[in-house]
Amino acid sequence: MLERGMRVGEAKRKKEAAAVKAARAKRVLTAIEEVGIPIPTGMEYSDPRLVDAARTAGKLLDLAFDVMEKSNARANSVPVMTGLAMQLHGNLDYLLDHIVNNGGSPVSVGCHEGCAWCCHQNVEVSILEAILIAVETAHDERGTKFDERSQSLLSLSDRERAVQGEPCPFLDDRNKCSIYKVRPVACRSYLAPDPRQCESSFRLAKEGHESETQFYAEPQISGTAFKAVLDAMAFDFGYQHDLVDLVSTVATIRKDPSIIERWLSGEKVFEPKSHDSHFVQTT
Ligand code: SF4
Repeated sequence: MLERGMRVGEAKRKKEAAAVKAARAKRVLTAIEEVGIPIPTGMEYSDPRLVDAARTAGKLLDLAFDVMEKSNARANSVPVMTGLAMQLHGNLDYLLDHIVNNGGSPVSVGCHEGCAWCCHQNVEVSILEAILIAVETAHDERGTKFDERSQSLLSLSDRERAVQGEPCPFLDDRNKCSIYKVRPVACRSYLAPDPRQCESSFRLAKEGHESETQFYAEPQISGTAFKAVLDAMAFDFGYQHDLVDLVSTVATIRKDPSIIERWLSGEKVFEPKSHDSHFVQTT
């Protein structure tokens, strides 16, 4: 009788766990819509590729939660949260590698080391990614250089930033990303077919003209789903989960690192990013 009672209890727990997982996958999609994560031009939220990517990302979020539960880690600590973000970044890289190297659709990426035309735009990130980058660069030269180089970029709209033509404060003197290991989802999934097109788009935007950059949709879709996962995760823990601007948010954290603790206590402390981006096009 007792054994049967345990089995019933076990079945109930499994059913509840399955419901939580199903709700989580659905929430990834909802987060894309609710948080206002931009999706590729011309794509609907119901596009099967987006639904598929959200499902994959939702499963990875499950895995991340499982690992956390098994290790009894507490979500309200910076190392645990940044560790989860890094784990999801690793999963995204794996997925992108599959898309580029083994996918069914032809993806011939023109991006290469030292090419950084795309590093001259405002970058939209989840709050957790900004925290990860601020923590990673808190006590080294990258952080000091960031302070010097970010001043002229703070609070610029997407359009003003494009006209200004200044690179990301994390781009080093050899045109390489100094935070490559912890770079945001947006940078990881921005894969373009032709650097010459990126350069001409950069020049047009700098002259104040409308410009469109071509990049591949599939990696972008996966990136969208992973951004949503990071936001859904913050939402689940009761933290502010807006998308924010990379440069101004890292600058805010560097000015007052205690703001992270306030975020972890559920306060809304970061300025959400406003959108005026006009150069988004997929191929
Ligand atoms: S974080 Fe790195 S990859 Fe992203 S815009 Fe800055 S320099 Fe470029």
